[in-house]
Amino acid sequence: MKQYDVIIIGAGAAGLMCAAQAAKRGRSVAILDKASKAGKKILISGGGKCNFTNLFIEPEAYVSNNPHFCKSALSRYTQWDFIALLESHHLSWTEKTLGQLFCDQKSGAVLRMLLDEGEQVDIILACEIGQIEFDSNYTIQSNQGGFKAESLVVATGGPSIPKMGASDFGLQIAKQFGLKSVAFKPGLVPFTFHQYDIDKYFKDLSGLSLEAVVSCNHANFREQLLITHRGLSGPAILQISSYW
Ligand SMILES: Cc1cc2nc3c(=O)[nH]c(=O)nc-3n(C[C@H](O)[C@H](O)[C@H](O)COP(=O)(O)OP(=O)(O)OC[C@H]3O[C@@H](n4cnc5c(N)ncnc54)[C@H](O)[C@@H]3O)c2cc1C
Repeated sequence: MKQYDVIIIGAGAAGLMCAAQAAKRGRSVAILDKASKAGKKILISGGGKCNFTNLFIEPEAYVSNNPHFCKSALSRYTQWDFIALLESHHLSWTEKTLGQLFCDQKSGAVLRMLLDEGEQVDIILACEIGQIEFDSNYTIQSNQGGFKAESLVVATGGPSIPKMGASDFGLQIAKQFGLKSVAFKPGLVPFTFHQYDIDKYFKDLSGLSLEAVVSCNHANFREQLLITHRGLSGPAILQISSYW
């Protein structure tokens, strides 16, 4: 049984960042992930260029059941902290529309940076998690043996793109330990129509893009809207999808 101070399940953006911070505080850390590679979603983020932060970050822009969480989290770690981290690794960035920042050296460089930040961290991949128990320490059984840790962080992300390893594992663990949880809800998704409506309204317009103001439930966004063969998409629609 291998013993660590902290075990993190999930080697995505959240798990890697958490591991690096815990290791910097002198804790021994291991990340366990069932995937064959760490940070797969980081690699596809921002069309491969990783839209890593935004210049105009503010708590009001986050959708949350607890709006106060964002206030404290964002005041303790700001966009300027992440920009400084990137620059300390000699990475540069470009601002696109509405303050969105993309990494010039692409998503792979952002992943490399997170891995370098946690160089003392053990990352155990292809690790299928079995039973998790708590008795003064957490004991985690896996196909790669047993692990023990004082602290356990579950950073297994949301269920979007299951073929990339996404699962509802986080909710299962919350249930096992009697923690309150909020059901997953899709966010940043396109608006799809029934075939009848597509044929009637959009058939000849597919591929057309225009600036639009979209509103729903008191929220509104002025951004590009794209008509597709399935309905409406583009930044304006993806943004408003969190409010319908
Ligand atoms: C196409 C696309 C583009 C995106 N572009 C951007 C962007 O430009 N900027 C941005 O900020 N966000 C972007 N996002 C969102 C961003 O990718 C996610 O918000 C972010 O990756 C979430 O990180 P995470 O660490 O919470 O979860 P994930 O990245 O999903 O990591 C979870 C990890 O947990 C592992 N795991 C899951 N279940 C288990 C289990 N049972 N046992 C062991 N391991 C498990 C998975 O293998 C995975 O490695 C994009 C998302 C997509 C799909």
